[in-house]
Amino acid sequence: MRYTGKDIQNRFYELAMAIFRFDFTQYLKERSKELYGIHLIMNKSRQAVDCNIFFGDIIPTLTSEIKQRGLLSVIAAYRVDADKELALPNIKADLLMLSDTLLDADEKILMALLTHELCHMVIDSKISHDLRIEQDARSEGEKVRTFTRYAKNGPNEHDCYHTDEWFALLYVACDKLAHAYNNLYANHQDATESALRYDSLEEPMQNVQWKK
Ligand SMILES: [Zn+2]
Repeated sequence: MRYTGKDIQNRFYELAMAIFRFDFTQYLKERSKELYGIHLIMNKSRQAVDCNIFFGDIIPTLTSEIKQRGLLSVIAAYRVDADKELALPNIKADLLMLSDTLLDADEKILMALLTHELCHMVIDSKISHDLRIEQDARSEGEKVRTFTRYAKNGPNEHDCYHTDEWFALLYVACDKLAHAYNNLYANHQDATESALRYDSLEEPMQNVQWKK
């Protein structure tokens, strides 16, 4: 199935509540901003070359601004306060950007990738939430990291989005995801692997202590 903008928006808000226990609509209201869904259009070599708005008010200059500032990303991205990077007069905006790959993905991959983006959103917006990051989540998150292209001593070690803090949060969020959506995921590992589907997992994450 191909998801509509509304389908994606509903799932994103639902996950914010189910996993982090915060009301997304309230977050936008408190900060007087809007969330725009951006559909990334890819070429044959799977690079994003164009985009359009798939939910949110139509702003004629939004898509051309995104292209001009080089914000097209490959699979998905979440940008908090994108208006600071774009020339958008009188608009405060977050962007949720998703490529065709995700709009055609099955529910399991889509929900896990939306959780991945929510983890970026939570860290970058500094919103308060209910997930507790204990020391074990930090060390397990670090192990998860070694199976991705953001591994320590790898070429993307200093990737500013996929930090240790982010991996610790993702580890805990995927535990919650696996429990809340046990119709989609066999277990914690299954949810985490789905959330990192496009981050080059070469081996199964066997030495991670998965929560039951
Ligand atoms: Zn990411």
